[in-house]
Amino acid sequence: MSGQTETFGFQAEISQLMDLIINTFYSNKEIFLRELISNSSDALDKVRYQSLTDVSVLDSEKELYIRITPDKENKCLTIRDTGIGMTKADLVNNLGTIAKSGTKAFMEALSSGADISMIGQFGVGFYSSYLVAEKVQVRTKHNDDEQYIWESAAGGTFTITADTEGEPLGRGTEMKLFLKEDQLDYIEEKKIKEIVKKHSEFISYPIQLVVTKEVEKEVDDESEEVKDDADKSAKIEEVDDEEKPKKTKKVKETQVENEELNRTKPLWTRNPQDVTSEEYGAFYKSLSNDWEDHLAVKHFSVEGQLEFKAILYIPKRAPFDLFETKKKRNNIKLYVRRVFIMDDCEDLIPEYLNFVKGIVDSEDLPLNISRETLQQNKILKVIRKNIVKKTLDMISEIAEDKDNFTKFYEAFGKNLKLGIHEDATHRAKLAEFLRFNSTKSLEEMTSLNDYITRMPEHQKAIYYLTGESLNAVKNSPFLEVLKKKGLEVLLLCDPIDEYAVQQLKTFGDKQLPLVCVSKEGLELPETDEEKAEREQTTKDYEGLCTNMKEVLGEKVEKVVLSNRVVDSPCVLVTGQFGWSSNMERIMKAQALRDSSMQNYMSSRRTLEINAKHPIIKELANRYKEDASDKTVKNLIVLLYETTLLTSGFTLEEPASFAERINSMISLGLSIDADVPAAEESAPAEDVAEVDDSTKRMEELD
Ligand code: ADP
Ligand code: MG
Repeated sequence: MSGQTETFGFQAEISQLMDLIINTFYSNKEIFLRELISNSSDALDKVRYQSLTDVSVLDSEKELYIRITPDKENKCLTIRDTGIGMTKADLVNNLGTIAKSGTKAFMEALSSGADISMIGQFGVGFYSSYLVAEKVQVRTKHNDDEQYIWESAAGGTFTITADTEGEPLGRGTEMKLFLKEDQLDYIEEKKIKEIVKKHSEFISYPIQLVVTKEVEKEVDDESEEVKDDADKSAKIEEVDDEEKPKKTKKVKETQVENEELNRTKPLWTRNPQDVTSEEYGAFYKSLSNDWEDHLAVKHFSVEGQLEFKAILYIPKRAPFDLFETKKKRNNIKLYVRRVFIMDDCEDLIPEYLNFVKGIVDSEDLPLNISRETLQQNKILKVIRKNIVKKTLDMISEIAEDKDNFTKFYEAFGKNLKLGIHEDATHRAKLAEFLRFNSTKSLEEMTSLNDYITRMPEHQKAIYYLTGESLNAVKNSPFLEVLKKKGLEVLLLCDPIDEYAVQQLKTFGDKQLPLVCVSKEGLELPETDEEKAEREQTTKDYEGLCTNMKEVLGEKVEKVVLSNRVVDSPCVLVTGQFGWSSNMERIMKAQALRDSSMQNYMSSRRTLEINAKHPIIKELANRYKEDASDKTVKNLIVLLYETTLLTSGFTLEEPASFAERINSMISLGLSIDADVPAAEESAPAEDVAEVDDSTKRMEELD
């Protein structure tokens, strides 16, 4: 080693992570090897991909392999690959100074009970080497740079030195782990073989273990002295050989050999019947960095005009960064005739299925295909179609087992809803997988199909209500009549539900419409009697409705008689094609939105009144007596504001609402409040603008 040594500080969180790895008591340390092998495999993938368009990148080293060398004498384990290597900048950035979102996420996961073996999923697998090593030395050579040595014994810093005197690597990376005194197990051949078999069997490059063997060799007796000198480690024993006159000896020699530890025949090329579930599990883990088995797997091949083989997996859990769109993830690896082409081929699967992992091996695509040309490729489009179909089949299979499906839905329900929004072709199929709580199923989620089986014959629509949480909607005034009539209402409490139902519109063979019960124009099944009664009351209350609209002015589009409330005096409904109150809430929360849309979409609100409610009845009486009664006007505004809240909107002017409530409280406590007094002395106006009178009240205060 020579050249200038530069010292760098680890990024703060990485340093913290290393401390944690070194100091946490943890017995399953062997996973470090899986992580380093997986990094080597990634690096080999990268150089192989480069070589597809430029063969000369392999000139620096033709063979692609991973080699593990145990060194008992120096208590040292070396993992070397002939992958892409790292430039000096790569070393500085990738091994220590650039913060990764996974670092913090992993530490948080650990403190809430996660296992260290999950490290690979968080993108910080390299640091697991400190589970067993007190010092790590990385020698690396990238085609675009000189050979460098990175070294760190943790403690917050690492060094980088130009490696001008060390043995040239050609290309690739060598990780040298100086093992802790109590971790010397990992130098044992047997142990290494066991770990590689367990965690890395399906790596698609040969993993070689450098083993020393004793072999017997027959040598001429005469050469004994020479041989003995040449090989000090050889043990010599004499053998009597009576038939031959010439005396020979058997000599035991130690020989160094590379033993291949993994099966590199790709799993997907085998017949599915011959692959065990353990093998699928092991392959999944090596593909996904997951520590747990998969939830479902599909191994299939397509033949005919176009040929490909694929293995697709659905994990048990969502990764911590499922919707972090910037991050590239290892989803589906693309191979062409057994040659790895690229990781994370996003054109193979739509965004909403981004949780599916697997590999696809095409017989038809050209080897030198690039990311850019992939998008237009017809073959790829057909492959993609098949993958989506198989994935949906796989989900259907999961749905056969309720418990499994519940787990699946918890992890990936959002993805299905996103799919409903985005994928018109499969919308109907995806809708079958949806699960919601409902007024008749508050504890357990129900499917739309199950909902339909519970529908009374005269029901012609699927009813739903959206809101912030189950608690916020389950007693909503919008549900009153429907509950009374025994009509079930789905309760949609995930923000994404609102987008999904807007696209879904109908469901099932009968194309039943999905109807939002908080929107205008709700038609409910009613008897002739009910109808006649409703028409009569509408007439009776016409006057009050007009009056209330005058009082409320621009706040509402109109005031009408309601057919959906039983216990509440009023509800506020929105236009059929506008936003619901819940959607308004969601949109307001999106800070970067264009607010002109807001005004346009959220403008129409209709106040519906309940003619059977005592408050409304009394208001009607008062209105008949004196249409310009100030107190009544004030109470109408208060009623409107309260209805905003129960209907899921936010208050426009909380302060004036509070003032009105406070004066009510005063009244309740029989305090001689100023407000009503001040009000009486205010001059009467023909059509009083409530806003004005409120202002006046404030001024007089
Ligand atoms: P991840 O593999 O998820 O990116 P790691 O902590 O395991 O996270 O590795 C960090 C980075 O270090 C890798 O992304 C890669 O750029 C670099 N790296 C690690 N090992 C090697 C290797 N053997 N060859 C080339 N680059 C490597
Ligand atoms: Mg890694």
